Amino acid sequence: MSTYIAPIRDMQFVLNEVAGLEEICALPGNEECSVDLVESILDEAAKFATGVLDPINRVGDRVGHVCKDGVVTTAEGFKEAYQLFVETGWNAMPFSPEYGGQGLPAVVSMAVNEMWKGANMAFGLCPMLTGGAIEAIAHHASDELKQKYLPKMVEGTWTGTMNLTEPNAGSDLAAISSKAKPVGDGSYLVSGTKIFITWGEHDVAENIIHLVLARLPDAPPGLKGISLFLVPKFLVNDDGSLGKRNDLICASIEHKLGIHGSPTAVMSYGENEGAVGYLIGEENKGVGYMFTMMNHARVNVGLEGVGIAERAYQHALWYARERVQGKIVGDKSNDKKPILHHPDVRRLLMDCKSRTEAMRTLAYYAAAQIDRAHAGDAAAQARIDLLTPVVKGWSTEQGVELTSNALQVFGGVGFVEETGAGQYYRDSRITTIYEGTTAIQANDLVGRKLAREKVPGAAMKALIAEMKLTVDELVAADDQLKNIAVNLKNGIDALSTASDWILANYDNAPADVHAGSVPFLKLTGIVVGGWLMAKSAAIAVKRLTEGSSDDFYKSKLATASYFAAHQLPFAAAYSAEMTGGAASVFGLPENLF
Ligand SMILES: Cc1cc2nc3c(=O)[nH]c(=O)nc-3n(C[C@H](O)[C@H](O)[C@H](O)COP(=O)(O)OP(=O)(O)OC[C@H]3O[C@@H](n4cnc5c(N)ncnc54)[C@H](O)[C@@H]3O)c2cc1C
Repeated sequence: MSTYIAPIRDMQFVLNEVAGLEEICALPGNEECSVDLVESILDEAAKFATGVLDPINRVGDRVGHVCKDGVVTTAEGFKEAYQLFVETGWNAMPFSPEYGGQGLPAVVSMAVNEMWKGANMAFGLCPMLTGGAIEAIAHHASDELKQKYLPKMVEGTWTGTMNLTEPNAGSDLAAISSKAKPVGDGSYLVSGTKIFITWGEHDVAENIIHLVLARLPDAPPGLKGISLFLVPKFLVNDDGSLGKRNDLICASIEHKLGIHGSPTAVMSYGENEGAVGYLIGEENKGVGYMFTMMNHARVNVGLEGVGIAERAYQHALWYARERVQGKIVGDKSNDKKPILHHPDVRRLLMDCKSRTEAMRTLAYYAAAQIDRAHAGDAAAQARIDLLTPVVKGWSTEQGVELTSNALQVFGGVGFVEETGAGQYYRDSRITTIYEGTTAIQANDLVGRKLAREKVPGAAMKALIAEMKLTVDELVAADDQLKNIAVNLKNGIDALSTASDWILANYDNAPADVHAGSVPFLKLTGIVVGGWLMAKSAAIAVKRLTEGSSDDFYKSKLATASYFAAHQLPFAAAYSAEMTGGAASVFGLPENLF
């Protein structure tokens, strides 16, 4: 049994009681949204996830897709599932009604997207990339390009991709060497090879709109000489119908550790006359535009960590209830009981549940900041800027650890492919790499988001101040929350110490700062996750005190208490690693490695 069931109760709790869905629905532009509407959207999405996407998750992994002469055939059922996805309007949900979207808030998409990722992460990548491309076009392209491409992309009839990576340009986009030259009629001819392009070629939609970074002739070197082009697989006639095939081809498909259901393509542009492309925005500003797409994708890749960890947990829990093995320590009855009763299996499962809930709360909280920022809230914009690398980096690192914990619950059969537990672990492994590795997220956090912020450290200090208020509230509220408050306070102090240390050392000892930047990212994730879990615990206690008999609140208090006791203490260790660890990182001369 490995059916994915959307964790709707927790999703609703986070949306309604932590992220402030009602308030977000009241923001200008969100008038169509209501708590009741979102409840029914979640119910329908859960049915789609379980009924349509989950059943093709295994075949995607076991069979994958086939590439022959540049034509990619996806695994059985993917094409039909995608068509149903489009027909039922799921693709259009978050986008502007101006282009046929339903205009629902980002926080609602977050919950729905988590279901796609939990049910079938490889499938979920296709709409995720389309969504990022839509954002980039909507924000930066001309009206003509918007009118021509967005309605079909919003509908989902055409999908989108993101083409940054080249054989010599991965983390370092400055090394991009693909070329574009103007034709004279407003279009360009694009040429070059892009590697690792997610859903770069497939058979599920009638056209693929590639967003490609390339250099114009005489462009300045480095990041300031890169432009962004819209390059369709099939050219689009003025009446919107499809024209001739563009000069681009899928040269091959990668054989990967995981996400076998998602075709990862090597794309060759302009092998013959040149691939026709259209400039998005202004020349040489492509990297900035691509960041619109990447920021969208980074939060959504962080969400993959949540979805895949939830799925792995559900499967492990089912197994732990079924599998009988060994005598349970301290049990006097001599009965054989399922492994769920072994204290260490309990620890593994509690760890999965509690940390997944913390990640979910952080992801939805971040999405709520996106909605508030859209409505003009500058503080929310600063908060989401700060938290984007944390959602991406921390949640994906957690996802890998938790899918590993879940696999451990299975013992030997977890390592055997038949159970399916191995797939989650393999699928999760890419999430810490694509959309910028964890190190790249950590660089962003300690650099642009902290030390190089307009007022250095301002966003982090505002967050720390807000978290400290929660400690005071917890202490005043209830005895059950006191232990959580103590651990949260210690975590916040550790984060504050490490942040101050970065601000003091970034200019004179940048290598020391960057040697500890990944521990700092994890420290931030744990403390912010711990803060949101502490707030959740306070809400749960309040509801129980008011007389609620909903076991969910008891469960939330337990998982939040676990997080405070078992995760927040790591904050002090990460802080020490950040502030004092560089000497030992560089302790070995290069020749002694
Ligand atoms: C399955 C899959 C799907 C992908 N999908 C897409 C896609 O759709 N579009 C696209 O454009 N790309 C895509 N990628 C590419 C992906 O984004 C890159 O693989 C990733 O950004 C890392 O680049 P790289 O592989 O060249 O590794 P490198 O950049 O060579 O990095 C190697 C190691 O060095 C570290 N490193 C490099 N630079 C720094 C630094 N400045 N500071 C600290 N550490 C550093 C990295 O963290 C990593 O550990 C995909 C990749 C895969 C495997």
